Amino acid sequence: MSGFRIPFFRPSIDEDDIAAVADTLRSGWLTSAGNVQALERELADYTGAGFVNAVNSCTAAMHLCLRAWDIGPGDEVITTPWTFSATATVIVHTGATPVLADIREGDFNIDPEQVERAVTPRTKAIIPVHYAGEPCDMDALQDIAERHNLKILEDAAHAIGTMYRGRMVGQLSDAAAFSFYATKNMTTGEGGALATDDEALSDRVRRLTLHGMNRDAWNRYDPGGSWRYDIIEFGFKDNLTDPAAALGRRQLTKLERFTEERTRVAQRYFANLAGEEHVRLPAFDERNRQAWHLFEIRILPSSPVGRDDVIRQLAARGIQTSVHFIPLHYHTAYKNLGYWKQGDFPVAEAAFEGAISLPLFPDMTNAEVDDVCQALHDILAGAAAK
Ligand SMILES: *Cc1c(COP(=O)(O)O)cnc(C)c1O
Repeated sequence: MSGFRIPFFRPSIDEDDIAAVADTLRSGWLTSAGNVQALERELADYTGAGFVNAVNSCTAAMHLCLRAWDIGPGDEVITTPWTFSATATVIVHTGATPVLADIREGDFNIDPEQVERAVTPRTKAIIPVHYAGEPCDMDALQDIAERHNLKILEDAAHAIGTMYRGRMVGQLSDAAAFSFYATKNMTTGEGGALATDDEALSDRVRRLTLHGMNRDAWNRYDPGGSWRYDIIEFGFKDNLTDPAAALGRRQLTKLERFTEERTRVAQRYFANLAGEEHVRLPAFDERNRQAWHLFEIRILPSSPVGRDDVIRQLAARGIQTSVHFIPLHYHTAYKNLGYWKQGDFPVAEAAFEGAISLPLFPDMTNAEVDDVCQALHDILAGAAAK
């Protein structure tokens, strides 16, 4: 498939996942129906959130949440440069202005001190990203949000199952958005969800998800349902489908095991790479539970072989890696906004110079982890010997 001996990621799809999807196809429910409603309930149980809206991506979940809060032109929303573009794109699409606050050394999560500095009278919300599955400093962010009357929407694309001081992501702030994209910790192919304790928010998001309609197709086509509906406001088309939700329900039953396996892989990386002087390993807080979506190492400036070269040499040995992330302000569309220049986010910029995401997926064997580590040792030692 990928052509790599050890791919960056391999999804965990079993026969029971396949059977669940096949069942929905036989049932005739191809759009949003019983499996979507069941997945929403099961995600609420799992995360401890009061309400969950299943949608077709994490991007949609974040966009709909900002829309439901009526965030728009003239407003500012603070997020991190160390994320996937979607986190900030959704701000732009509401007409609001994205404001970036640098990350902190260590876990690469948004730095509350930088957030505090970025707050203005126009600020309406903060979107922290739980990078790699390590939660942000939510106590500090909540404190800022309360003092300035801001909403918090967590980008929890990496963080389903993450716990902050014993509490699941999904019950930590105003809202949290999960991703069920193919490479995420659980998948529906494409999919996502918004978790919140705010019923009014959940209701508004539900309406915006499906055209701004006052009732969904499930009700309309039910035997007792009616053909009548009303368009209350101008909405979007972001609903999850039943075949995808059926896959998500199976995946959710296995998520705890997936997380255990990811943790096993991460621990083995830590053990194997502990003595590697040119590599900095991920920082995490023992008081939290990490979802280990990524294992991001940093090739230190002291290394005789640079990051790009390490990636090339790993690839030559059949090992696929990635980089998370290219800082947002390095991308053309963000440059064209004219808000930022190189040097504005020194921590994110320095992190980017050395960042490499190593392969990490639940079915990765210990031998595969050892193989990746040996290759890294060889590459770094080989260059040092020259
Ligand atoms: C994957 C990802 C997203 C987008 O998720 P989709 O479900 O593909 O929309 C958003 N933020 C981060 C940090 C991600 O890694």
